[in-house]
Amino acid sequence: MSVPCDILVIGGGPAGATAAALLAEAGHDVVLVEKSAHPRFHIGESLLPANLPLFERLGIAERIAAIGVRKPGAEFVSDAHRRSVAYPFAAGAARFDHSYQVPRAAFDTILFENAMRLGARGFQNLRVTAATFPKEPGRAEVTAVGAGGETRHFAPRFVLDASGRDTFLASRLRLKAADKHNNTAAIFGHFRNVARHHDGREGYISIHLVENGWFWFIPLPGGITSVGFVGNQSAFKARGGDIAAFFRAQIAGSPSVAARMADAETLGTVMAAGNYSYSARSACGEGYFLIGDAFAFLDPIFSSGVFLAMRGADAGAEVARAWLADPTTARRLARQAEARLNAALARLSWLIRRINTPALRDMFMAPQESFGMRAGLIALLAGDLDLPRFHLPVLAFKTSFHLLAALHPFGIRLQPDGSLRRAHGEKKEMVVF
Ligand SMILES: Cc1cc2nc3c(=O)[nH]c(=O)nc-3n(C[C@H](O)[C@H](O)[C@H](O)COP(=O)(O)OP(=O)(O)OC[C@H]3O[C@@H](n4cnc5c(N)ncnc54)[C@H](O)[C@@H]3O)c2cc1C
Repeated sequence: MSVPCDILVIGGGPAGATAAALLAEAGHDVVLVEKSAHPRFHIGESLLPANLPLFERLGIAERIAAIGVRKPGAEFVSDAHRRSVAYPFAAGAARFDHSYQVPRAAFDTILFENAMRLGARGFQNLRVTAATFPKEPGRAEVTAVGAGGETRHFAPRFVLDASGRDTFLASRLRLKAADKHNNTAAIFGHFRNVARHHDGREGYISIHLVENGWFWFIPLPGGITSVGFVGNQSAFKARGGDIAAFFRAQIAGSPSVAARMADAETLGTVMAAGNYSYSARSACGEGYFLIGDAFAFLDPIFSSGVFLAMRGADAGAEVARAWLADPTTARRLARQAEARLNAALARLSWLIRRINTPALRDMFMAPQESFGMRAGLIALLAGDLDLPRFHLPVLAFKTSFHLLAALHPFGIRLQPDGSLRRAHGEKKEMVVF
């Protein structure tokens, strides 16, 4: 016997739980299916200020504040430049001046429980294994298998796929395309006794730009620090079988990272996520919509994943509601939502693909005020990805990058004071932007 429902959501992470909560609150009959059981570990602990309005809307803002470390900004550190630059959210044009660093087990549990509080029917330890869709709008057939091998069937009118990097539908429908321009992988773990800041930057995420990649330092409650390395293929070429040993070698290779990790003790195991940026060719189809990592995954250097997942969930919930009322309107809404998501992804991808270039690193280590570029960069770091007032700063930033990239082969580099100089020589000319 199939259990009928309005909407079935595959996956109870941030995207799935957010969509389920919004739809249940609007009075729909929602089934939320999660293959594991909360609380469970997940990577992705640094949140963006742009997340805050959704926390308020979901009624969980205080609970998130209670489990997190307040995050007032992001810091970039570069051994090559021998400097660190702080980007406080309050100093830019961002709408909110802070976010949180959260243990994801607790964060995801709050979101999942909240969806059930609002009326969603939540199932855990239940893995969706098949979904078939009717040719005309009608009920899909979804099969799921429990931990003990029992099978359950559901008959939803609409399906939201929030299965994360498992990409349930995108993989089955062969929609998934790897990002060849960002072929990176990550190793990460939790540590005690990592050197922390004591100068107002206690809650900052630190991004250390190193050869062939970057490290994150995320301060979590209880003196725990999440540390991870994201590297390109050159970095991982040298990797042997032992990922913990490879991680230690990467740490030792960066003086600024090694200094912070001098007394660090590993908690649990070091983990890896491989070869990993992708997006589905389309988020929408007849009777379904893909949200969060089930649609696209970006390199996490700008901590954008959870925010994009929850924003996608908001859009996906709108599409689902529209589908129940009128599939023709829903198809149009779905295409518009997909275009907005793609625009936000493109804005971040532009930076991510260039993050290992000397010109972009010079710009991060010497932020310029002209044309609102620094404020615009801070807004982007806060997750304000598509407000019209940032169009000029973004254009100025991209133009400056292309200019610097063109000058780089001649040894001319951007200096912290905004001037351009030859790497080993005297000053050539003063600020040009
Ligand atoms: C190394 C690394 C570092 C990151 N750092 C950050 C960061 O600092 N900040 C940030 O915002 N983001 C970060 N991210 C990204 C972040 O983890 C994701 O973008 C975010 O978790 C996406 O949420 P989601 O709900 O789409 O997917 P998920 O959080 O992955 O949730 C998907 C859920 O679906 C369930 N599921 C999967 N398949 C099925 C199935 N068949 N049936 C039922 N359930 C299923 C899974 O068990 C899971 O609970 C990072 C990612 C990586 C890999």
